Parts: sequence; C-alpha cells; structure tokens
Amino acid sequence: MELIIGSHVSYKNSDQLLGSVKEALSYGANTFMFYTGAPQNTMRGSIDLELRDRAYALMKENNIDIDKVIVHAPYIVNLANTENFDFSVSFLKKEVERCSILGIKYMVLHPGSAVNSSREEALTSISEGLNLILDNNYNVRILLETMAGKGNEVGKTFDELKTIIDNVKYKDKIGVCLDTCHLNDAGYNIKEFDYILDEFDKKIGIKYIGCIHVNDSKNILGSHKDRHENIGLGTIGFDNLINVIYNKKLENVPKILETPYVTKDDNSKDKEYPPYKYEIDMIRNKEFNNDLIRNIRGN
Ligand code: FE
Ligand code: FE
Ligand code: ZN
Repeated sequence: MELIIGSHVSYKNSDQLLGSVKEALSYGANTFMFYTGAPQNTMRGSIDLELRDRAYALMKENNIDIDKVIVHAPYIVNLANTENFDFSVSFLKKEVERCSILGIKYMVLHPGSAVNSSREEALTSISEGLNLILDNNYNVRILLETMAGKGNEVGKTFDELKTIIDNVKYKDKIGVCLDTCHLNDAGYNIKEFDYILDEFDKKIGIKYIGCIHVNDSKNILGSHKDRHENIGLGTIGFDNLINVIYNKKLENVPKILETPYVTKDDNSKDKEYPPYKYEIDMIRNKEFNNDLIRNIRGN
C-alpha cells in the first residue's frame, strides 16, 4: 500500500481546484487539503465546473485519488456558540454541498469552543448542529478534529469526541481527524501512539479516523497551546511522527502536513517558503535531514 501524503495547499478563486492540484504536485504529494476560501471568513465564490474537470484530469494523470482529498471548514465557524448557531449550521450545510460539487468526500471541522455555555452544553449544541447539517443526500463525511484545548476549545479528549459522536444520528457521515500537534498539546503522548490508538479504538473506533494531521509541536505535552512546528524540529520529534505516519492500522488514511512556512532567515518574521516538498521527502525516506531549514531556504 502506497503512503497517502500531502499538505495544506491554497485554493484561489482564479484557478480553484486546478491550482490546488498543481501546488500539491509541486510538493511531490499524492493528496492535499484546502479551505474553499479564506479560513478566517465565510465568504465563498462559486465553483467553476470546467476548472474542476481539468483538475480531475490532472489528478488522474498523477494518481491522486479524489476520495483522499480533504477540505477544511473555516475555523471561525463555532457550532457551540448559541448566538450564531443558525448561521453556522446554514453555512456548513452549504460548505458540505460545495464539497459534494467538487467531489470531495471528507471535510475537517473544529468541533467548537464553549464561549457562552458550559462544556457539556457545548457538546450537545455541536451534536445538534451536526444532525441538522448531515440531514442531506451528499456523500460527504465530517471529520471532527482533535483539539489542543486552547481557551474553551472542546474536543480535546476522546471522551468529548465520543459524546458528540454518540449523539449524531448519521454515523456513516461522521468521523475524526487526529492532529498530532493538538494531541500532544492536549496531553496525549505521541511516543506512546499505539496505546493512544488503542484507547481511541475502545472509545470511538479506529474506523472513524478519516484523516491525520501530521505536525510537530513547539510546546510541551499538555501545554494546551496549538503552535505547529516543522517535522522533527519540535517536542514530538521525527521518529515518533514516522511511527504515526507508517502505522499499519492507519495505512488507508491520508496524512496531511500543516507545518509552518519557513522564514527567509532567522531574524525575519515573514513566512516565505513552504516546507512541504522537503518534509514529504524526509518522510518518504524515513530519515531526518538536519539541514531541513537550510534546504528549504535554498542556502
Ligand atoms: Fe484544523
Ligand atoms: Fe490540524
Ligand atoms: Zn492547530
């Protein structure tokens, strides 16, 4: 079985899915993830079917399976916020429809944040929202992402995710996206990934895992921070991430890098260079390259 690996890529209104595929190919990826517009807002343009079909042709030529491509819902949508619950539901309904038009089968969603309620009420609100959104005829599964537990974020434990999923009626349309940085920051030690996966399997079930976000972390175990680091340069470390990526039980699951862009030099703050081509290379070779940052900067 071939490793299914890619990264976050951009999606611009000018070339849409076709541009995303081209970017993924430039990294040597065989899958990818994108937001259908800006991640921090809910403004969305219409989908150009001709660009979509040209993207399909390019994917076919390069053995990219559309079934493994991921959309990420905008992170400002919060099904736990009772004040704009109706807006969130109607936006996500449309977003699922957009995925369906594009032929995308998986949409990652941050479960939500308990901004004006208890955590328990937040979990209930999220399940209710999901039941409204998933009452459709689309073949699109929503993957709830494991969260770092920053602020009032919910979904930082498998128990919380289980509570949400237990109350979702449409079990074939719901799943989970494991994010290694978020797991670490939530207090799950990636060094003991087999044990974590066992716990997940007992509580929720491995078959619910539809995507893995592979990120190193800038912070220590249980820090509840959510700051991603390049592969091998953080507190999780290269070998532990390789163990996750090549886990036999997760062979079929797409692995997506969301590691930070690299700055021009140590003093610069501008994120200049995407690291993905280099990180994918290291992952395929299963060998950490000490010159990673220098190589990415091209010096
Ligand atoms: Fe995310
Ligand atoms: Fe993530
Ligand atoms: Zn994150």
